[in-house]
Amino acid sequence: MNVNTLQFDQLCQLNASLAPYSTYEIGGTARHLGQPATTAELVTLLEGSKQKGLGVKWFGMGSNVLFPDQPQDDMLFLSLKRHVELEFSTNRLFVSAGVPMTWLALIGVMTGIQGMDFTYLLPGTMGAGIYMNAKYFKHDISGLLERVYYIDVMHPEKGMQQIGVEQCQYAYKQSIFQQNPWIIVGADLHIGEYTLPEQEQWDEIMREMRESSIASSILPEYFAYYKNWIPRLEAAGYRVPQAFHDVIDDRGGKHHFDHACCGSVFKNNYDFGQPTGKLVDELGLRGTQHGQARISPHHGNFIQNTGGATASDVLHLINLVQEKVDARFGFVPEPEVVIL
Ligand SMILES: Cc1cc2nc3c(=O)[nH]c(=O)nc-3n(C[C@H](O)[C@H](O)[C@H](O)COP(=O)(O)OP(=O)(O)OC[C@H]3O[C@@H](n4cnc5c(N)ncnc54)[C@H](O)[C@@H]3O)c2cc1C
Repeated sequence: MNVNTLQFDQLCQLNASLAPYSTYEIGGTARHLGQPATTAELVTLLEGSKQKGLGVKWFGMGSNVLFPDQPQDDMLFLSLKRHVELEFSTNRLFVSAGVPMTWLALIGVMTGIQGMDFTYLLPGTMGAGIYMNAKYFKHDISGLLERVYYIDVMHPEKGMQQIGVEQCQYAYKQSIFQQNPWIIVGADLHIGEYTLPEQEQWDEIMREMRESSIASSILPEYFAYYKNWIPRLEAAGYRVPQAFHDVIDDRGGKHHFDHACCGSVFKNNYDFGQPTGKLVDELGLRGTQHGQARISPHHGNFIQNTGGATASDVLHLINLVQEKVDARFGFVPEPEVVIL
């Protein structure tokens, strides 16, 4: 056995349930699960998987993926949630792939960096936000970026590569990363002036960020944890932006975090002119149930796991919506959720 496969075995967990890694709380047992905490560990896992002839699927918080009920044995599943680093320099902040997007908003409040409030309660990690160009109303992740660092899964031996934001082909929920087998390891964000808290306090913040990133993907717990940051910030003397309260009202009012789900299942078709959720409403499909999966009674573009749903239950509802929308409105809505 050579060094790579030996290190691979040390970094790899065998026979791990994928369900706790997804906000759907759905997923069978993965034969191989890797959770690299550094770029070096990621490269080792990728080189080892090549030598062992394993395919690779990668993810972050699992808030926009549907894992299979029966994952293939010859597949390595890679969670990037443990890779949590922040590095400040003049006008620039390096953020690694596993940093939860919500933390950008919290860091903004604690350091005075402007323009990151919109990530408050936006589920998921930076790596996926960059991949998906995650957005909340008018703001999207690409608007914060200067340059993205990635590893090519086909050529991990090349090490870390980089690409400027202007080359990333960003558009609504689109990026160059969706066309290439590249794992994002982090990005430089352009920032204005900032003030860092005292070193001891900062170390504590980083420790908590790491812990919260690897916490479970259970949505009601996620909501409760980040909601509780408002009184904590206020008690520490920070001014919490009104935007945070507005997000709680908006997402809380739409019951985003009440049930296991992946947020919006379909992208909106802007050529058609109406959000997909509205079309599902018009078709009277809200509340439709299959197995333990249900189209949300509150939001036509959400499919929930009401307890014990399988991936095939969710897929059944996805197909149903696609068929009905196609029959009535003449186009097949494109899934936003990534079906792994
Ligand atoms: C309740 C709820 C509300 C939501 N609201 C919004 C919203 O307002 N706006 C919005 O845009 N999204 C929303 N989402 C979806 C989700 O927040 C985003 O898609 C987010 O970017 C997913 O992050 P993740 O870490 O969970 O990604 P995952 O679900 O783990 O992965 C999603 C995709 O990203 C890829 N990926 C993950 N990490 C990397 C990486 N390091 N490098 C390359 N590719 C990677 C995966 O391969 C996969 O294809 C919501 C989800 C939920 C559950």
